[in-house]
Amino acid sequence: MDFKQYIRVIPDYPQPGIRFKDITTLLKEGAVYQAAIEELAAFAKQLDVDLIAGPEARGFVVGAPLAYALGVGFVPIRKSGKLPYESIKAEYDLEYGKDALAVHVDAVQPGQRVLIADDLLATGGTISSSINLINQLGGQVVGAAFFIELTYLEGRKKLGEIPTTTLVQY
Ligand code: 5GP
Repeated sequence: MDFKQYIRVIPDYPQPGIRFKDITTLLKEGAVYQAAIEELAAFAKQLDVDLIAGPEARGFVVGAPLAYALGVGFVPIRKSGKLPYESIKAEYDLEYGKDALAVHVDAVQPGQRVLIADDLLATGGTISSSINLINQLGGQVVGAAFFIELTYLEGRKKLGEIPTTTLVQY
């Protein structure tokens, strides 16, 4: 399926010079959303995944249905200060700005195979921080899956040897 036609590009959002990829136009098309998740699920099935982790907030929109499709658990990675139980955190750089992500200390058991899902790979700062958190808990990041990749920002370099799939590239 040509997913790109369902993504709306918004110039100068949230800052001048950024061309924001808006996935809400894809999400509201049920068959397209489902096809996108199924394509990521086909990739994830080859990796013998125990858990899907997804960073707030659009990583939930990709990661939770993916976990459901695979019949595995979902781990929310949240902005620092949002989780109710004891957590660890890691700082990260965004395409625009800086923040910290956090995860519960018991979210992943040592040795568990984790795939990280998000809507978009840009500089790779968010995924690096997410990998850092999973590794701190003893989990093994065995894959990464995104709807969109901004190839010119070279975020894939931060993923090294981790098998990665993206549905649409700019
Ligand atoms: P990175 O950390 O790889 O530089 O940026 C990726 C993160 O920022 C993702 O969590 C993603 O949700 C968000 N993000 C950055 N730019 C865009 C964009 O143009 N569209 C969307 N939907 N998310 C973006």
